[in-house]
Amino acid sequence: MRLPLVPDDPRAHRFATQTAQILGEDLRAEALQTLQINLGKRCNQACRHCHVDAGPARTESMSDVSVERVKAILTEYRMPVLDITGGAPELHPRFRELVRHGRGLGITTIVRHNFTVMFEPGQEDLPEFFAEQGVTLFCSLPHYTEDGNDRQRGGGVFAASIRALRRLNDVGYGTGRADRSLTLVHNPLGAFLPGSQRDLERDFRDALGREHGVTFDRLVTLANMPIARFAAWLDRSGQLTNYLDRLEQRFNPATLPGLMCRGMVSVSWDGRLFDCDFNQMLDLPVRIADHSLMGLSPEALRGRSIVTGAHCFGCTAGSGSSCGGALTE
Ligand code: SF4
Ligand code: SF4
Repeated sequence: MRLPLVPDDPRAHRFATQTAQILGEDLRAEALQTLQINLGKRCNQACRHCHVDAGPARTESMSDVSVERVKAILTEYRMPVLDITGGAPELHPRFRELVRHGRGLGITTIVRHNFTVMFEPGQEDLPEFFAEQGVTLFCSLPHYTEDGNDRQRGGGVFAASIRALRRLNDVGYGTGRADRSLTLVHNPLGAFLPGSQRDLERDFRDALGREHGVTFDRLVTLANMPIARFAAWLDRSGQLTNYLDRLEQRFNPATLPGLMCRGMVSVSWDGRLFDCDFNQMLDLPVRIADHSLMGLSPEALRGRSIVTGAHCFGCTAGSGSSCGGALTE
């Protein structure tokens, strides 16, 4: 199925035109702050909204050569932030080595963690490993009720996530310590934008504390991007056009300065460079001559014109959306 999200879609043209009018030029990258690494598509879950089509049967995985190159890049350029994602990145055989390397250089190292992976064989000591390394955790928990959560992520995932959160609390995560930071990530359960990040954080904190006795440091909201598995679901349920229209109608110019693509580069498991992981899924590499990991340099990436499409309205609608949550709250 070819979804209408390629650069020649009329919405893509409107996004580029509107953005250029507001900024006085096309959307461009600034200094590189974050190196985001996708270690592969293998995951112990198969969530309905997954924008990377990850799952237990996927075998794509970053090669040893690429992992070595990532380590060399970190050593040479020391970007402020290393952001490790997947799939479930913990399932990559060199995940812990990469974390240790980043932390050894003093780089803030974010892991996009799904909670339940710590119950996979060989992963039982993940909380202690995260704590020892001072990893910054971003953990998916779409909703604070079992039903709301499991409708999106699968049966039993909520109960396992609460058990995992308790384990993380036990080693100091989510208790206010800067070196054990735990952020929950909420995304809506359907074809609508997230509610107020501040209100949702309060609701999650109250419900999770009261019902389960667990804590976290903050909550961020993410819009569901109209790509991959979520776009296919929208299409099957006849909601794709309405959702795309809704995102476009809610375009908010105040989100433009904080768009994550302006300060990051996203590396795919097969060693190519993208402006963000959404562009990665759409196979739209960065617009520079050499878009391979082997040729990565912050100088070459700075000032590049970002590849945009209709899906970009997902980042600019309402309060905005990024890996770090809402952009204008
Ligand atoms: S846990 Fe994350 S990577 Fe895994 S299937 Fe769910 S959304 Fe995708
Ligand atoms: S999807 Fe979002 S982060 Fe990616 S290029 Fe578009 S605006 Fe930037």
